[in-house]
Amino acid sequence: MENHYAKRISNLKASEIREILKITERPEVISFAGGLPAPESFPVDEIKEISRIVLEEEGTAALQYTTTEGFDPLRNWIADRMNTRWGTQFSKDNILLTNGSQQALDLSGKVFLDEGDVVLCESPTYLAAISALRAYSCRFVEVPTDDNGMIPTALERILETTDRVKMIYVIPDFQNPTGRTWSLERREKLVRLAEEHNVIVIEDNPYGELRFEGEMLPSLQVFDQTGSILSLGTFSKIFCPGFRIGWILGDPDVIKKYVLVKQGADLQCNTLAQRVIAKYLDMYNIDDHIAKIRDVYKKRRDLTVKLMDDLFPDNVTYTRPEGGLFAWVELPAAINARDVLEKALEKNIAFVPGGSFFPNGGKENTFRINFSNMPEERIKEGLVTLASVLREFCLKTH
Ligand code: PMP
Repeated sequence: MENHYAKRISNLKASEIREILKITERPEVISFAGGLPAPESFPVDEIKEISRIVLEEEGTAALQYTTTEGFDPLRNWIADRMNTRWGTQFSKDNILLTNGSQQALDLSGKVFLDEGDVVLCESPTYLAAISALRAYSCRFVEVPTDDNGMIPTALERILETTDRVKMIYVIPDFQNPTGRTWSLERREKLVRLAEEHNVIVIEDNPYGELRFEGEMLPSLQVFDQTGSILSLGTFSKIFCPGFRIGWILGDPDVIKKYVLVKQGADLQCNTLAQRVIAKYLDMYNIDDHIAKIRDVYKKRRDLTVKLMDDLFPDNVTYTRPEGGLFAWVELPAAINARDVLEKALEKNIAFVPGGSFFPNGGKENTFRINFSNMPEERIKEGLVTLASVLREFCLKTH
């Protein structure tokens, strides 16, 4: 078989997170690894009731093929929400429903990337975006990033000196893996630079609704003057990931290209799932639901940060996210987080080492902590144990 595979397949390797998730399925493991929402936040009873209503009222339509673009009431809801929040003028024609935002990443590669094209990304960035885009044989150039997002002077220099930059991929809100959020100024500057250099921007925003404090910051769409921004959204973190419904929002002509490639990929998203979500949005106030999720995650974030403050060794640094699901930990340079993981797993604690969030490698002394999935008492137990493992490593390197 070896000589039958397409060349691009040799660029791909198994996701470290998916491998670790297999271990975390054991009930005794306290997992800070996946990006899983809290299961108790899923509106199971409501979905049970709504599924019955949808099947009773529109059963045959809900089980039939539908358009590639997706269920119009859902597309309209997404456009309206954006317009109400940011004063934009989008309609359903700006929106294609996708199988999670993950599919929108894959389709973005299909629509835009030729072999050897360059994608600029934050350093570090979302692991599964690297996998999705790498399948199209692109090269990644990591842009130096601080607490406020990509550093504009560094981005400008890279844009001026790098050939074949096709796309900039960013997660401006509560970034995966660092939990960091871009400042308003950096958002606007990014859009201006992308326009100047005629580069597409993919704005990936699964976590923006999960802000625990402070003001929501605008989507890059607010600054767009040329239709070169594509924004990805999802119901995964505000409703449930199992339905696999997300979207891509952008210029209608670009969306038409995405529709073409989605037809080839899977024809359409699950009809029943689209209609159940639309009916939920009709019958319930999703903002009340999101507020409940935010409350739970804020408490978990507060506890996580307090325990890191109290227990982690002084030479370990970490982010203090204002929302989302993740914090990012940096160890002294001599410590490899994969070695720490090995020791932590012996004590049934899991997290994701940071190295694989850097598409070109490096920074093995980092790791990602997810705080959304475990109840508070397990977060406490897990971080007490993890802190003792970290102290052992830090003592050895003194
Ligand atoms: N983008 C980012 C930054 C993510 O963290 C995730 C989920 N972990 C996704 C995209 C994919 O989410 P989904 O496909 O469930 O919408």
